[in-house]
Amino acid sequence: MSVERITIAIDGYSSCGKSTVAKALAKKLGYIYIDSGAMYRAVTFYCMQHKIISDGKFSESEVLKAINNIHLSFHVNPLTHVSEIHLNGVNVEKDIRGMDVSEHVSPISTIKGVREKIVGLQKEFGKNKGIVMDGRDIGTNVFPDAELKIFMTADPVVRAQRRWEELKEKGMDASLDDVKKNIELRDYEDTHRAHNPLRKAEDAVVLDNTLLNLDQQLAFAEKLVDSIK
Ligand code: C5P
Repeated sequence: MSVERITIAIDGYSSCGKSTVAKALAKKLGYIYIDSGAMYRAVTFYCMQHKIISDGKFSESEVLKAINNIHLSFHVNPLTHVSEIHLNGVNVEKDIRGMDVSEHVSPISTIKGVREKIVGLQKEFGKNKGIVMDGRDIGTNVFPDAELKIFMTADPVVRAQRRWEELKEKGMDASLDDVKKNIELRDYEDTHRAHNPLRKAEDAVVLDNTLLNLDQQLAFAEKLVDSIK
């Protein structure tokens, strides 16, 4: 078996557990983990903080102006050993996970200039391989040559329930119905946007985790890695 480091792209619908699998896989392989959604969330959070998004509305040119003032970086949390996102030097990992950011992130991520900036950074993060990145367009657009592409999906009711429980655990307030509606809306927006929509890459392997626990999903992914290396 060679020890060559590969690129692993994990895409899929909202809240189907991509980041949980991606994090665990990266840890097991000693790879970098990048949560690409966190980058779009951080840009959205910045726009909300600076009132560029107001009452859910924004002008694209204002967002594009703001993007020049946004510096995104990932730093490994020494306690959890997981990489966390920093916005202009400040850890915003918790701030970006609430329903307020979730409600605005998909429209912001449709903006071509926003995607170009973020995709550029993502390519840079992955230039030395040895990376697991999860998102919506990783296998189709960011790393079209990734050695392993996984497309994750799960029953929408199960996804909403999992996401709601996750928010509850973090002490964030949201009703199950609101979480379900938000997931449906983001899936629609992410699959129908003009630039880099969410779709399964032709060479991606589907992982439906509706009935699988984390160990089973990890075993599935590791087997795929072993078949490549
Ligand atoms: O992965 P997460 O649900 O945190 O992503 C938040 C949003 O960011 C998605 O709903 C999508 O609109 C956007 N996104 C994207 N491209 C990616 C990752 C996320 O457009 N690669």
